[in-house]
Amino acid sequence: MDMREVHWLMDMVTHIDLGLVVFDRKGKIAVWNHFMENHSGFSSTEMRDQCLFEVYPQLKEEWFQRELDAVLLLENEVFITWEQVPHLLPFAAYRPITAKAHFMYQNIVLRAIRNASGDAELVSMTLYDVTDIATNKLELETANNELAILSRTDRLTGLYNRGFWQEQLEQSWSLHQRYGRTYSLVIFDIDHFKKINDTYGHQAGDEVIRQVSGVTRDCARDSDCVGRYGGEEFTVILPHTDKAGAEIFAERLRKQVEALAVSHEEHTIRFTISLGVAEIDKRYGDEVHWLEAADQALYQSKHGGRNQVSLAPALTD
Ligand code: GH3
Ligand code: MG
Ligand code: MG
Repeated sequence: MDMREVHWLMDMVTHIDLGLVVFDRKGKIAVWNHFMENHSGFSSTEMRDQCLFEVYPQLKEEWFQRELDAVLLLENEVFITWEQVPHLLPFAAYRPITAKAHFMYQNIVLRAIRNASGDAELVSMTLYDVTDIATNKLELETANNELAILSRTDRLTGLYNRGFWQEQLEQSWSLHQRYGRTYSLVIFDIDHFKKINDTYGHQAGDEVIRQVSGVTRDCARDSDCVGRYGGEEFTVILPHTDKAGAEIFAERLRKQVEALAVSHEEHTIRFTISLGVAEIDKRYGDEVHWLEAADQALYQSKHGGRNQVSLAPALTD
C-alpha cells in the first residue's frame, strides 16, 4: 500500500459517521475521530494520551471493566446495545426538530487490536448513533402499551371490560386448579336502575354507573380485579379471600353505595345495589359454574328485597 492510499484511508476513517476510539488497557487514548470530536466537544489533540476513564467516569464501572478484560483476554468482540445501556457516553441528541430524545442512543462494539507481535494491547471502540431506531422502537412500544390498556378498559368507567375480566376469571380458576389458591367472586347489580334512567335521563344513569365504579375501586385492593360485566352489573375477583372475607368486602361496598348521593343537574340521586358472593370450589367444575353460583346469590338478594348481600349455598359432595 503506498502512502497516498494510507492517507485516503486515514482521511475516510477520521471522517466516517461513526465514533472511533482506540485506547490501551489503561484507557490511554490513541485515536479520537471527527465524530467523537463533534459529539464530545473535545478535539483529538486534547484527547490524545488522556485517560478515557477519567474523562468519562461511568466507564470505570465494574461491568465495563469486565467487558474490556474479556475483549483483551479472549480477543473477541463485545457488543453493548442501546437496550442494555442507552447512553454509554453522554452525548446530546442533535435532532432539533424532532427532539424526542435528549441523549444520543448508542450501540457500541469493542474489539481487541493486535500489535505487530500478535498481542492484544489496544482496544477499538466503535460507536453507532442509533437514536432514530431507538426512539421509533420506544414510541411503538408506548403506542402498543396504550392500545393494550385501551383494549382491556371499559370506556365509561375505566374498569376492566367484560372480555378482559373474563380472562382473569379463567386464570383464577386455573391457578386454583393447579395451586389450590383461594379466590372469591362478588357480582352486583344496581337496584331499580331503569327507574333512574326513566326519571333523570340516560346521562344521569351514566353518572351513577361512573360513581358506583369509583366507590368499588376505592373499596377494592390493588390486587382485586374489578370489571364492568354489563350495563349496570359489576364483578370483582378477590384473590386470597374466602367467603367470609368477601362478605365483609361486599357489605362494606353495599353500605358505601347506600350512603352515596349522586348530584345530577338539580337532582340528588340515591340508590342501592344487590350483591352475590361465591368462594371458588373445585366442585363447580369450571369457572362458568362458579360465576353462575355468584349470579344466583345475586338473584337471591334481588328476591329477598334488594340492598343486601347473599352467599352462594354451601356445596355438598
Ligand atoms: P333490578 O333492581 O331488578 O336490577 O332492576 P333494574 O331496573 O336495575 O333492571 P335491570 O338491572 O335489568 O336494568 C338494566 C337497565 O340498565 C337497562 C338499560 O336500559 C340500563 N343500562 C344498561 N347499560 C346502561 C348504560 O351504560 N347507561 C345507562 N344510563 N343505562 C344503561
Ligand atoms: Mg339493575
Ligand atoms: Mg342489570
